[in-house]
Amino acid sequence: MKPNYRVRFASSQHVAHDHCALSFATPGIRANEKSRNGCRECKRRRVKCDETFPVCRRCQRRSTLCIMDPKKPTWQLELPGITMVQVPDSTLLLGDHVDSRLLRQWLERTSQVMVLDPDLNPLSFPILSLLPACPWLASVLQSISAAHENNFDPGKSTACFVERGRALTAFARQLEAPNPPLAPMLLGVFLLGVSSSWIESDPSQYGAEHLTGGRAIFDMLVDAEKSKRDHMDWFAIGTYVYWDMACSLLVDSAKLKPLNTSKIYAAVSDMRWSYHPMAGRAIELLYLLSTLGRYCRSFISFGERDLELELTIEEQLVQWLSPTEGEDPELMALSEAFRDHGLILLYRICGPSPSSTDRLLEEEIKEHRIVELALKAYDALSRIPSSSTRHIMLPIPLLTVGSELREEDEPKRKEVIERFGVLRSMNRTPVNLWAIEVLEEVWEYRRKGIRASWVEVMLWKGWTFTLG
Ligand SMILES: [Zn+2]
Ligand SMILES: [Zn+2]
Repeated sequence: MKPNYRVRFASSQHVAHDHCALSFATPGIRANEKSRNGCRECKRRRVKCDETFPVCRRCQRRSTLCIMDPKKPTWQLELPGITMVQVPDSTLLLGDHVDSRLLRQWLERTSQVMVLDPDLNPLSFPILSLLPACPWLASVLQSISAAHENNFDPGKSTACFVERGRALTAFARQLEAPNPPLAPMLLGVFLLGVSSSWIESDPSQYGAEHLTGGRAIFDMLVDAEKSKRDHMDWFAIGTYVYWDMACSLLVDSAKLKPLNTSKIYAAVSDMRWSYHPMAGRAIELLYLLSTLGRYCRSFISFGERDLELELTIEEQLVQWLSPTEGEDPELMALSEAFRDHGLILLYRICGPSPSSTDRLLEEEIKEHRIVELALKAYDALSRIPSSSTRHIMLPIPLLTVGSELREEDEPKRKEVIERFGVLRSMNRTPVNLWAIEVLEEVWEYRRKGIRASWVEVMLWKGWTFTLG
């Protein structure tokens, strides 16, 4: 069942004093809404903008950040065919700590950089229903919006850090209180953690402390009785699995335990075929990738091999099939690319088995397989055009695939760089530029005959940023 998340702001008559009234209902805002005057860069240069979404042609050619300003606040009247949807608690009164401009930026723009489909985005309007139980969430949302509207420029991050400080103090207080609201708190910690890489000028911050803190809340949520879980609980559980996967190659394995408890596995299995706004229908695959990521990271750090685990993961990845019936071809392509990203990392990082009788031969076989997988995954990613909103969830497999493209695949390498450029205009975060830097270093190592994975190259640089 697809929840209906199509919502809007209430008309201005409902806004009283410092309070902001918001209702749940009606059609969504498309992320690719066009402005009549073109992107900021074209306006600045006083040239005509073709308004291609998400990056106009001029910005594509010049590799500049392409930002379309949202329409003016009259947009509610411009929405076609308003259909009312009844949702309980349809009107919320929010307190003085709410900055309606930043909140609106969150609802319309910032919240869209983390999901596959802007119309199925629990982080947009639906998250407002969690504010009464968890008021500091508003500060989290506003903190990220404040940084987003300044294109995550570290020189303009005061508002972002003020809101963040406020959120963290309130979070700590609420965590001490009896019966903390688990899903809202977990989503709040996730948002603080995932945005760590975006707001810091230092590529080594990925919000490790938030991931660890979030794990404690996640465990409580998974332990709670299943029959009492609502949409947001399920969403929060899937979101944590996604986040864990995105950090799994970075975490110091001694500090964060793996997700391999029977309760977590049961929750993941329950979600197997349902749609998650970040994971699509691949939550089980992402769970597997999080085990793989930790294993690869610990192999890089300690060199200890577990051939049995490697074989199990390899077998499960090879056998993993996305649901094909009625499935969206872009979601299928995305899952396929994630699966091949896992296999590539496994072969690249672990290499031939230590007990192999002919290591050179085995290495050549693996090398051949990696190239094959990279080209196959590249084709899968090509089935998701950069004009698709799904493009936003591509960076992880894109980095793995890109780093395995050979010198003779130069046009494909160029395309990968261009895609990171498009991603930068879509989410405005600095991580896309760091990813390009890592890619170019991996290629430079290859030129010198060193076959290192992007993960190793990143760790050699002392970098640990998340791409999720
Ligand atoms: Zn333009
Ligand atoms: Zn532009």
